[in-house]
Amino acid sequence: MTKNIFGLTLTELKNELQPGGFPPFRAKQIVEWLYQKNTYDFAAMTNLPLPLRQQLTDLYTIETGDVIVKREAKDKRTTKMLLEFTDKAAVETVLMRQNYGNSICVSSQVGCNMGCTFCASTLNGLQRNLTTGEMLAQALKSQELVRKDNERINNIVIMGSGEPLLNYDNVLGFIRLVHEKYCMDIGYRNITLSTSGIIPMMRKLADEDLPITLSVSLHAPDDELRSQLMPVNKRYKLENVMKAADYYAEKTKRRITYEYILINELNDNIAQAHALADLLRNRLANLNIIPINPVKERNFDRPSPQRMKTFLAVLDKRHVNYTVRKEMGTDIDAACGQLRNAYLDAENE
Ligand code: SAH
Repeated sequence: MTKNIFGLTLTELKNELQPGGFPPFRAKQIVEWLYQKNTYDFAAMTNLPLPLRQQLTDLYTIETGDVIVKREAKDKRTTKMLLEFTDKAAVETVLMRQNYGNSICVSSQVGCNMGCTFCASTLNGLQRNLTTGEMLAQALKSQELVRKDNERINNIVIMGSGEPLLNYDNVLGFIRLVHEKYCMDIGYRNITLSTSGIIPMMRKLADEDLPITLSVSLHAPDDELRSQLMPVNKRYKLENVMKAADYYAEKTKRRITYEYILINELNDNIAQAHALADLLRNRLANLNIIPINPVKERNFDRPSPQRMKTFLAVLDKRHVNYTVRKEMGTDIDAACGQLRNAYLDAENE
């Protein structure tokens, strides 16, 4: 049986190779090929002696998955890829070339079981967790694209399909690995993890002492509406989610990002804008307002520009610190889970 080594840390690879009598510096050379030079074939690792390359090929595999769909948006700045692994599980990754650098949005699970009513990722439930290597594969496939222009990936947001805090160990493994100098050398401050509010794991993450940005999906300013939109809120109530986020901010000294999707006539009235302002008052917070990406299976629409203006005017008046998310790539089904669903639909036809 061959073993997959893609996704191992340098230390793990050293330990793996040690019984075979390989000198430790070989492990360093191999991770550089894998994680910096996007070389996924032992035979092409030209600074390794030929017999060693053969030996590695006999013992190990390098599993990065295959890009089976790649779509470029008209703006030429957004690329969405569907990456398929050996068990045919497929996940989406989005590359966004922004003025302040290249960002990627990485999936943490295949599908999702959070059941949020507005989201495409959860429509077919959860298939499985992704491994650290499978998350890294998403990042490196994106890195390959920007390397052609002599650029690198600057920011990673773990905001694709899945609930990252329910795949905690693999996600943390991924965050630590991409941060390594021998890997992608991404600063912790350039990594954002988005959660629907899994309280115990938010607290655990706060205790890791990693200065990554925590993003909390809010979408409603009260329990009643939030539970309706996000079933997770029945278990983890808004007030306690806010307390866990406060704890995270206090421990890491990092401002929390709150995500608020605007859905026509559901969470976008004036009273709700005030309730949202109340909720964020005296908190170390950035609010991200996102006009919903309508999902064809759901009946949610964007508010009209006028309704949106009215909502934002309240936030202005209340001095809430917010930004409105710039849309990128809506013409390529860039909203979470949409590309994978289109693919699953086509398979089932
Ligand atoms: N499970 C995590 C991370 C994945 S979802 C979380 O809930 O945060 C990433 C973000 O995309 C969340 O803020 C989610 O609410 C948002 N999202 C999901 N469906 C969307 C849609 N149709 N339009 C806009 N944002 C959406």
